[in-house]
Amino acid sequence: MALAGGFSTAAVAAENPQVDYQDQAKIHEIVAQVSAENIERDIEKLVSFGTRHTLSETESDTRGIGAARRWIKAEFEKISAACGNCLDVYFQSQVIEGETRIPDPVEVVSVIAVQKGTQDPNRYVIMSGDIDSRVSDVMDFTSDAPGANDNASGVAGALEAARVLSQYKFDGSIVYAALAGEEQGLFGGRIMAEQAKADGWNIEAVLNNDMIGNIEGINGVINNTTARIFAEGTRMDETDREETRRRYTGGEVDSPTRNVARYVDWVADRYIPNLDTMVVYRLDRFGRGGHHRPFNDLGFPGVRIMETNENYNRQHQDLRTENGIEYGDTIDGVNFDYAAKLTSLNAAALANMAWAPAPPAKVSIAGAVKPSTTLSWNKVNGAAGYKIYWRYTDAPQWQYSRYVGDVNEFTLENVVIDNYYFGVASVSDDGFESPVVFPGPSGAFSINRDDD
Ligand SMILES: [Zn+2]
Repeated sequence: MALAGGFSTAAVAAENPQVDYQDQAKIHEIVAQVSAENIERDIEKLVSFGTRHTLSETESDTRGIGAARRWIKAEFEKISAACGNCLDVYFQSQVIEGETRIPDPVEVVSVIAVQKGTQDPNRYVIMSGDIDSRVSDVMDFTSDAPGANDNASGVAGALEAARVLSQYKFDGSIVYAALAGEEQGLFGGRIMAEQAKADGWNIEAVLNNDMIGNIEGINGVINNTTARIFAEGTRMDETDREETRRRYTGGEVDSPTRNVARYVDWVADRYIPNLDTMVVYRLDRFGRGGHHRPFNDLGFPGVRIMETNENYNRQHQDLRTENGIEYGDTIDGVNFDYAAKLTSLNAAALANMAWAPAPPAKVSIAGAVKPSTTLSWNKVNGAAGYKIYWRYTDAPQWQYSRYVGDVNEFTLENVVIDNYYFGVASVSDDGFESPVVFPGPSGAFSINRDDD
């Protein structure tokens, strides 16, 4: 940087600390390692189990949900063996019964692999896909249900992200999850979210991948350069008191989920060639659901990452040809390079968050009837400093930022609080940043915020 007027750069930097964000070489390296061939091989294997319906048989080693989940677990164990047992791999199960889509008792079994963080192991970023598949009748557990895109693509993505990221050590923990019982009512996600809450996990973000391989839309569009990030607005665990406060201070569009979505969008712009992500201000597709929702239900930040152009002839369909149209979720509907691209986006976002410090806690803001705006927050372990972000209230992405150093309060002189939304991110000494935290309970990442 050239400075006019004869100031030395060092003197100016000391007075006014600035960390210019620089691309992290390690993240580019991670993105380049994600393999479309591995994803193709894993989807092929998952499809080979015939059906992975939640109610399908569990005894066979070649067909049904039991064989599928045992194979996924063995695959995570293989990855773990290759990194000196860096993954803790386990089944997580619960017997579900008396539900519309699970009337009789069935053990719903997810496969979870945890890569423990070295500095901050109780902070978790999670990538998930779903094991189970279905055809036209959601209760049909015997017909072939290949579920190649929905959602073998998500599980293959989680396996491949684990292969790549397990070669590195992170400050925070990374979890790779193949969740069960999605089509029958989001059971695996609910079981995992409830267990995480009971165990006191600090979940920073859930990146739920559900259908990341289709590039040919039902509307005829063929496009492999965009993806969607679905993110709900106000948080589900908001109390009446918090709602009232939000009415006067804002925060409708700044739940922690939304700021995770903005973060993933920012990662895509910086690190993923030929990919533009669209943040969708909605929980999920119109009236539809996915496995990030049970986490959101409990207040945890979580988004759904997926293709932009869906093909309904290839989702939840009996395998058949009708009037010349082929129906069914077969492997020829999956584009492996595209699935690899979205997997690399996940891996880059997970690595960025797991190398960054935790998001700042107890962020608050003041400045009503003053010319300046003051933000304050609790410092977090491992942060070398903090960065304040702001934007116009109708702007989708953060527009302005200022690195303010290792302080827990800062006043932006002559920036009027009424005209912008503000937030704070933590920054590590090597420049990794956390997602931005909007002040107050609306934006807090923690689900325990009684005194926010
Ligand atoms: Zn589905």
